[in-house]
This record gives sequence, structure tokens and C-alpha cells, in this order.
Amino acid sequence: MKSKEILEEIAEQVSVCTLCKLHHSRKKAVPGAGSPQAEVMFIGEGPGFHENQQGLPFVGAAGKFLDELLEEAGFNREDVFITNVVKCRPPGNRDPHVEELEACNPYLERQIAAINPDVIVTLGRFSMAHFINHGKISSIHGRSYWSNGRMVIPMYHPAAALHQPSLRSVIKEDFAKIPDLINEAQQARKNNPDLAAMSQVESDENSSDENGAEQLELF
Ligand code: URA
Ligand code: SF4
Repeated sequence: MKSKEILEEIAEQVSVCTLCKLHHSRKKAVPGAGSPQAEVMFIGEGPGFHENQQGLPFVGAAGKFLDELLEEAGFNREDVFITNVVKCRPPGNRDPHVEELEACNPYLERQIAAINPDVIVTLGRFSMAHFINHGKISSIHGRSYWSNGRMVIPMYHPAAALHQPSLRSVIKEDFAKIPDLINEAQQARKNNPDLAAMSQVESDENSSDENGAEQLELF
């Protein structure tokens, strides 16, 4: 199956999913949106009020700021892929629970495997924790790590900058680094067959939760 078809299949499954209790309160599930060929994926936390209404990721206030960040860094929304670690809105925008994250993880892993991005940008700590099991976001934001043959760059959540204006320039600086880091990741994947093989295994197996947690710092 082509990556577009796999993503459509995942979106259909997500829209009727009942694997965790978040399905009780959702209006619309939010599978994610963007290009099946994206070089970079942005992964947030979970849908908020407006996302739950529309079924689309990052369309509220944090989404407006994300649009600004993407544009300043030279990206169109249509060329990247944007999703969340949980696809249904936690009531009142509370933090997702461990069992909800675990139930929803396979969808995210299948999306990553289908898109096979060079770079994953995590937005906020829940998304970061999916890939990187050490460090605090305040000290490691904007740095690049390797996980399963892909570059992962942890960043603050755009909503954090709305609450804490001093973070706005920090996030902007981190986003400005993304284009160069994509080039670096593409070169590394081209020149290092091990990296390519790791993400290939992930794609072939359609991935699993355990894979996501492993972390490699090769460079
Ligand atoms: N915050 C998120 O983490 N994701 C969204 O889609 C919207 C707000
Ligand atoms: Fe299913 Fe994920 Fe929604 Fe839970 S959050 S019901 S696992 S799609």
C-alpha cells in the first residue's frame, strides 16, 4: 500500500476507535494532517477544543502560532505532517493518561512508518517522552537526537509560548534550525546504511511501542 492509503486507513480507524476512554468525550477524532511524503513530522500532545470540533490538528490559538513558526522557518503546512500522541481530546485539556498514550501509540507508530520522515519534531513533553527517555525539555530543546534511524528534535509546545511570552523567541530560534537539521539528517541517512536500515525495519514491521522508546545518540 502507498503511504497515502495507509494514512487514510489509519484515519478511518482512528475516527471510530474505542481503544481508550477518550472516545467517550470526543466529538471528532483528530488523526493528523499533511503530506504522506513529509520530510518532517510535528507531533503535539492532543486535540484541544477547536481540534475536537473540526477533526484537524492545531487549528486553535496554539495552531495559529504554529503556522507562524512554520512560515518563518520556510515551511508550508501541506508539505509537513502534523499530528499528536493522542488522537482524541482529553476532557478539559487535561494531560493524557499513561493508558491512553499506550492505547494510541500504535497509530502514531504506523503513521511514522508510513511517512518515513527524516526528522521528527516533538512539541511538548508528552511527545518528547515518546522518543527520548532522559533530559528535561528546558535543557534539551532544539538539540538533535537519533531514534530508530531518524532525527528527533524536542521543542517546547507552542501553547507554552502563549502562556510564557519569554519562550516565543526560544521556539522561534529552535524552529529556524529545522531546515539545516533536515539536510543533516538526510545526509546522515544516505551515508550511514545502519540508520536507513533501522527505520526500514520499523517500516517493514509496521513498528511497535518498544521501538519508539529506544534512543541512539550516534553523532
Ligand atoms: N495542542 C496540541 O498538542 N495539539 C493540537 O492539535 C492542538 C493543540
Ligand atoms: Fe483510540 Fe487514540 Fe482516541 Fe484513545 S485517543 S480512543 S486510542 S484514537
